[in-house]
Amino acid sequence: MITRFAPSPTGPLHLGHAYSAILAHEQAIVADGTFLLRIEDTDSTRVRPEYEQAIYDDLAWLGMSWEQPVRRQSDHYADYDKALNNLAKRGLIYPCSCTRRIIQDAGAETGHDGFVYPGICRHRSMADAQPGDALRLNIAAGLTQIKTKPSFIENAGSDQTTHFVSAEDLETRTGDIVLRRKDTGDPAYHLACVHDDGLQGITHIIRGQDLWPLTPVQVLLQRLLDLPTPTYHHHRLITDDRGRRLAKVDRSKALAKYRAEGATPNDIRQMVGLPQT
Ligand code: GLU
Repeated sequence: MITRFAPSPTGPLHLGHAYSAILAHEQAIVADGTFLLRIEDTDSTRVRPEYEQAIYDDLAWLGMSWEQPVRRQSDHYADYDKALNNLAKRGLIYPCSCTRRIIQDAGAETGHDGFVYPGICRHRSMADAQPGDALRLNIAAGLTQIKTKPSFIENAGSDQTTHFVSAEDLETRTGDIVLRRKDTGDPAYHLACVHDDGLQGITHIIRGQDLWPLTPVQVLLQRLLDLPTPTYHHHRLITDDRGRRLAKVDRSKALAKYRAEGATPNDIRQMVGLPQT
């Protein structure tokens, strides 16, 4: 078993991250497997080195250890370019110059990750890519290139369910996702994440339920890049007193803040509903 915790250093870790990291770490230890930490720092406009350092400090304070070296995605852009070229050669990506405003004006629905892209630029070919364009995955074309229906196993303890990914799932949850961001040219989250889960041989992905809507398209991408599909566990979310999901901007629940106030790792476990060690 190989599990991973894959935070983005765009803000301080909060209780929800602690819960996710502890689950992934403990699952690997119980199975005598491997726990990896991966730094998903491809959004060059938002990552900050001090947040990366804080990730190492917070996790070490919680009593975790992980394999070295840590994979920092910003050190591996050439890998993601290679994956993009592979998709481009097969006619699976297209350039897109749409702004948020254009997408919104086209009546796009809101999905987890911003708007569900309604395919405005889908007719464009890579030959006509302009500097600054985003690159998007053509989901419909992708579905024609795989032989069997994509699926994944959701494993919540003793409960195992197989989920089949339908064209409708993909179209309504995310639409044609961005694989390379516009302007900065940074590889986008889905591409780097799916690529690295495959490269690192991750067998079990343990992450919050908030990412559930993004799993179908990631499973499709795994199939298109000829990567195995891990088993998933989308865990419950840690919420604030009013039942709202914690966000990185909500610094009041930052681990560093509890630590500074004298909390112990066991206090954190209690706050997220985990048994004491
Ligand atoms: N880097 C992503 C985040 O911080 C996590 C991705 C994942 O666990 O698949 O939200």
